[in-house]
Amino acid sequence: MSDEKKSIQSIVTPTRLEYDFTPGAATARFLRGVKEGRILGQRCPECSKVYVPARGSCPRCGVATRDEVEIDGKGTVTTFCVVRVPSENIDLKLPYTAAHILLDGSDIPFFALIQECEADEVRMGMRVEAVWAPKEEWGATFANIRYFRPIDEPDVAFEKFKEHL
Ligand SMILES: [Zn+2]
Repeated sequence: MSDEKKSIQSIVTPTRLEYDFTPGAATARFLRGVKEGRILGQRCPECSKVYVPARGSCPRCGVATRDEVEIDGKGTVTTFCVVRVPSENIDLKLPYTAAHILLDGSDIPFFALIQECEADEVRMGMRVEAVWAPKEEWGATFANIRYFRPIDEPDVAFEKFKEHL
C-alpha cells in the first residue's frame, strides 16, 4: 500500500435555503387576486401597456400604475424551452416545456409550464389557457395556476406578438 497523500477531489454537501417573501404592494394585490382565482394586472396611464403581474410602475414611462385590469387566463406562447434535464424539485415527466405566455390583454409575457401536450407540439404562436389547482388548495401564490394547456384556436401570427418576445 502506498504512503502517498490522497487529496480530496470533491465533496457532496446537501444545502437548503428557506426564506420568506415580502411581496410589496403591487405584487401583494396580484397574489390576493390569484387567491380568489383572478389574474390581475395594471395599466400604465401614459403608454397604456398592461403588466401582469404589476410591479407598481411602468418600466418604460417611470410612472405609477394604478388602473387594475382583470385578465381571463388565455394567452399565446411567445417563446419556450424544452427541459430534458431532471431536477429533484420538479416532478414532471421529461421532456417538458416552460414558456413565455402573452396573456390576452397584457403586454408582458408570463412564465409558466405547458402541459397536456407533447413537448414537440409546443410552438410559438400556440394558443393556451391557464389550468388552476382545485379551489380548496388556493393560496396567495403563483402555484394556484398549475400550468397552461393548448386550446383549440388558430395559432397567432408571429407579427402580432414579435414586440413581446
Ligand atoms: Zn408606460
